[in-house]
Amino acid sequence: MKLLPIPAAGQTPVRVLTIAGTDSGGGAGIQADTRTMALCGVHALVAVAAVTVQNSVGVSGFHEIPPRIVADQVRSVAGDIGVGAAKTGMLASTAIIEAVAEVCREVGIGRAGSIPLVVDPVAASMHGDPLLHEEALDAVRHTLIPLATVVTPNLDEVRLITGIDVTDDASARRAAEALHTLGAQWSIVKGGHLRSSDVSTDLLFDGDTFLEYTAPRLATGNDHGGGDTLAAAIACALANGYTVPDAVEFAKEWTRRCLEASYDLGAGHGPVSPLWRLTHS
Ligand code: PLP
Repeated sequence: MKLLPIPAAGQTPVRVLTIAGTDSGGGAGIQADTRTMALCGVHALVAVAAVTVQNSVGVSGFHEIPPRIVADQVRSVAGDIGVGAAKTGMLASTAIIEAVAEVCREVGIGRAGSIPLVVDPVAASMHGDPLLHEEALDAVRHTLIPLATVVTPNLDEVRLITGIDVTDDASARRAAEALHTLGAQWSIVKGGHLRSSDVSTDLLFDGDTFLEYTAPRLATGNDHGGGDTLAAAIACALANGYTVPDAVEFAKEWTRRCLEASYDLGAGHGPVSPLWRLTHS
């Protein structure tokens, strides 16, 4: 695959900002984002929105960072360091979503500004543990998604946000249209959780054209952090000047390689791993 350029020693890399939650198990959330960013040759900037207590078996609790502190982290790095692209992950509450949306508009992140924004509307962990208060779904729909250059829900998140149960190609198209109608410039409906098929097809839609990305399904229980990795890789490619369709193609292949390199960790689900990049020239 064509990889993103690794900067020479001493050369300042492009910067990508993640606004998301931490994972004490090191597999998903901010830890997945920064692993992928580093191995894509990108300098990771971090605004912590929540601290989760989790391991390979599940999420047993989380602590929300005060919304003003989340927004101040974004403001602080955007002003001094500069952001090439940004992504959001776990934002937990309406108050945090509103604070993030406001600061993004202020510093030019999102579709109304010049800095592309990937919105991963994280709602629950793969174990079914909630990472977003139910009352915050309206803010995801009407405050967060309208800022998105690209929105990347999985099928559970699609159902929560649009009410559409994706079971086949036609319902996937309806869901992509519904997400676009909410205000995302591009919407992706990820087929990875559609277990009935032996391929995984992601559908990308810009309000006009549907693009399909198909890859063989990989049978692994170690896919913790897969969604974060895809969204982070899209942001890295956008920061390197890729178009959205090219960024999605890159990210899909990146994530497939990370799934192939996933490993056992703890008693539950192990993480996808970008560490394959260290031995790949
Ligand atoms: N924990 C955090 C902080 C996350 O942001 C996410 C997903 O985005 C998860 C857990 C869930 O990841 P997974 O569904 O891959 O277990």
